Amino acid sequence: MDIQQAFGLSKEFLELSAENFTKEQVQKLWELVAFHSELYYRHENPIISDSEYDVLFKKLEVWEKLYKTDIHISSSVGSNIEQSSFQKVAHSRAMISLDNTYNEEDLHDFDTRLSRILGESSELSYMIEFKFDGLGIELIYEEGILVQAITRWNGILGEDVTQNIMQISNIPKTIDKKWRFEVRWEVVMPLSSFHRLNEYAKQHWQKIFSNPRNAASGSLRVLDTSITKQRDLMYFAYDVSDTSEFFGWTYKDMIEYLASLWFDISSYFTYCENISEVISSIEKIGNIKQQIDFEIDGLVIKLNDMSLWSEAWFTQHHPRYAIAYKFPAEIVTTNLLSVEHSIGRTGSITPVANLEPVCIWGAMIRRATLHNYDEVAKLWVRVGDSVFLKRAWEVIPKIISVAVAGIWDDIVPPKYCPSCHTQILKDTDKVRYYCPNSYGCPAQMHEKIAFAVWKHWFDIDGFWEKQAQLFYTLWFIEHIGDIFRLKYHKKTILQLDWFKEKSVENLLTWIEKKRTLDIVTFLKALWIPWVGKKTAKTLSVLFHSKDDICYQLLPPKDVIEQLPDIGPEVADWLRNFFMTQEQEIRDVLSELTLIFPEKKITQWKYSGKKICITGSFEWFSRDQLIEILESQGWNFTSSVSKNTDYLLAGEKAGSKLKKATELGVQVLDLEGFLIKS
Ligand SMILES: [Zn+2]
Repeated sequence: MDIQQAFGLSKEFLELSAENFTKEQVQKLWELVAFHSELYYRHENPIISDSEYDVLFKKLEVWEKLYKTDIHISSSVGSNIEQSSFQKVAHSRAMISLDNTYNEEDLHDFDTRLSRILGESSELSYMIEFKFDGLGIELIYEEGILVQAITRWNGILGEDVTQNIMQISNIPKTIDKKWRFEVRWEVVMPLSSFHRLNEYAKQHWQKIFSNPRNAASGSLRVLDTSITKQRDLMYFAYDVSDTSEFFGWTYKDMIEYLASLWFDISSYFTYCENISEVISSIEKIGNIKQQIDFEIDGLVIKLNDMSLWSEAWFTQHHPRYAIAYKFPAEIVTTNLLSVEHSIGRTGSITPVANLEPVCIWGAMIRRATLHNYDEVAKLWVRVGDSVFLKRAWEVIPKIISVAVAGIWDDIVPPKYCPSCHTQILKDTDKVRYYCPNSYGCPAQMHEKIAFAVWKHWFDIDGFWEKQAQLFYTLWFIEHIGDIFRLKYHKKTILQLDWFKEKSVENLLTWIEKKRTLDIVTFLKALWIPWVGKKTAKTLSVLFHSKDDICYQLLPPKDVIEQLPDIGPEVADWLRNFFMTQEQEIRDVLSELTLIFPEKKITQWKYSGKKICITGSFEWFSRDQLIEILESQGWNFTSSVSKNTDYLLAGEKAGSKLKKATELGVQVLDLEGFLIKS
């Protein structure tokens, strides 16, 4: 079986329902599950998600029972893996995995079953702890000295990883205990370290780990122990091999005892009087999960009275005194069918993956963003690949890594805009590709208008994205300013089926109300790349009237850069934007009333510089120019003296120009002045 066949077959088995299952398929499924465990345990390179593996394994267990196969092959899965570079050591007590549950009902069943087996009439109390997504390890101490560390491996035999374990910084190498003591740990990699490791791997074209456990396992089960030392691994002690020593103890006391021996234990242990308390605690766990720096894929529920553990004992596969409650799967695999290059409202192009529909957290996912082309290259993802897809809580679905490489069809940015065919440009030093045709690109205009009406700018009640799209298609709104001219199309709009007179009336009234807005909101609404609300607020000090905007009366780039949090890119974009989009901006401004904050003299380069004006100017009156000068911090003087810094000279300049030349005062024409300011 090759990897691609295995992936396809897994998808078939995942879909297959019990009634379509035949006895012959048990063997096939067994081979498949064995194939996956091989990839998983030996290579740290799974091609399906843990939850998908769990489902396949569960199906195997159920169908074995159903067809009463002579040997339960599911129990031997994993034990047939002979090849491992590490020496094998038998566990003194098998490290058996816990049974999984996914809902309240299963938990009640678990409790009822236990009560029956134990013959208990009173309620059973439990401890809840995190189920860390890590690697099970057993540590053996003799006469207080750490002598051996073995992995869980197949539960019966483990791999000797003593040298590697010694590299984990906070492990106790000695403990205060005279006799042989075997303690069990979960070795984990914090999420922050996991993300750092993968980020580094992407930059250096190394292997990307699909989850923190694979990363932990891959960091620990290596022959070169210096790798283990570099990786940021942690552990939590949670159990002992020989529980007879703790007969009569509660699990809670045992954990506290482990802590007293200086073992690290999890910060989360909750005592529950009964199963109902367990269930209500589970409901509260969502918030905690978001705050911890570890991946947990569920919770472990254990009987608190350890004396009952030996009575409850084991099923064929699992201990009966404990159970794992698994959270809904966050990671699944699916196929990447094609990629669209989507144009946003600032012209940025985002690759969006079309996926074979797949269900996560109860939602059918068909598309996922690939963020940018740099990310695509780092992930090595191509059309035709099978990918791991993650969706956690409310987060939008994200492709984490490639599961199986498919046909090699690279994902590259298009040369020309798919919407307006303008040549695509790339930001220098940025990963952004964009269509520069800001106001002529249908895709961008479409997005801009939708965005403008939808909350962010005008917040026009009753005007939704769908309507904006419709008006755009009907040519009513082609430019932002057209929103305010929509009233001229009232008659036609009323003829459209889905508009009632009242709603149209309301819409137009709202639009009228929104003609007045403040400069910050306006700047933000211009969709200048990199300019959000905060930046818009900072930049707003540069403008004091509509004319400043209409005539691009901006200070020079280096002055803009002096504003807090404004980098050279924003300064560039701002100037560039005003230069190229002048017409569009003037058009929308002609419909609007802008509110400016009270004038404040901003401290910039020209603050206090003395300037005098002479002659006449084509575009501005003398008073307008004085207003502009003063708003930009210049100190206007009516006559030229040796203290004057500049003279702004227009047409027909006379005596003042002569005097300035004699005194050596620098003379600017209007063009020179505009460049300067
Ligand atoms: Zn375009």
